[in-house]
Amino acid sequence: MKKLCQLYEGKAKKVYATDDPELLIVSYKDDATAFNGLKKGTIKGKGVINNQMSNRLMARLATMGIPNHFVEELSERETLVRRVEIVPLEVIVRNIAAGSFSKRYGVEEGVVFDEPTIEYSYKNDALGDPLLNTSHALALGIATEQEIETIQTYALAVNHFLRTFWEEVGVTLVDFKLEFGRTSDGTIILADEISPDTCRLWDTATGEKLDKDRFRRDMGGVENAYQEIMRRLETHS
Ligand code: UDP
Repeated sequence: MKKLCQLYEGKAKKVYATDDPELLIVSYKDDATAFNGLKKGTIKGKGVINNQMSNRLMARLATMGIPNHFVEELSERETLVRRVEIVPLEVIVRNIAAGSFSKRYGVEEGVVFDEPTIEYSYKNDALGDPLLNTSHALALGIATEQEIETIQTYALAVNHFLRTFWEEVGVTLVDFKLEFGRTSDGTIILADEISPDTCRLWDTATGEKLDKDRFRRDMGGVENAYQEIMRRLETHS
């Protein structure tokens, strides 16, 4: 597989073309941003951890019937993925109130929901990723009704898998964000990453935050938290 020109540089990853039009290479950076890019920094070693963690979770999800873009880990920071056209939706699943949900609805962080919730934001930095419902998504032509149904089914199945997975190593999955894409034949598959950048993960025993909130909230111990969550993942059978 030949790595060709860089196609795109995002906040946390770079994307390269390959000599196969159906495949891309993503390269994970240590750069971290928050609050729509207002806060910038570096989390040393994050790129390696996010790459490896996301790949392991994606590989497991594929075996559970959740199709996704993961093809092959090429190196510590680089992975071969299927090329997709990203559906501009941030799909957020929550098990426990935190972050923008707590703020928006005035609910204390840590309130456990009876059932998981799902919400969508329009992936658009210029607009600040506004919240939107499925009828808005249809009106904007972001996705079809059937695609949204598929995305919702997959997102809830991912939640079910991830919750159990993390529970088994003493970690509580609070919430997370997913992105989906369309392959060249129009099939919806899971894309982007699943990492401490995109999930809230709390140590079940102590409540300690083991995710990007330590960076967002200037709590310190960011690198250690990423290392600890990777260590937990590695203890999983
Ligand atoms: N999230 C993300 N990217 C975003 C917004 C949110 O990965 O652009 C993740 C975030 O890490 C958390 C979940 O989605 O695990 C819910 O985030 P929330 O809506 O509470 O927003 P935040 O408080 O992070 O602004």
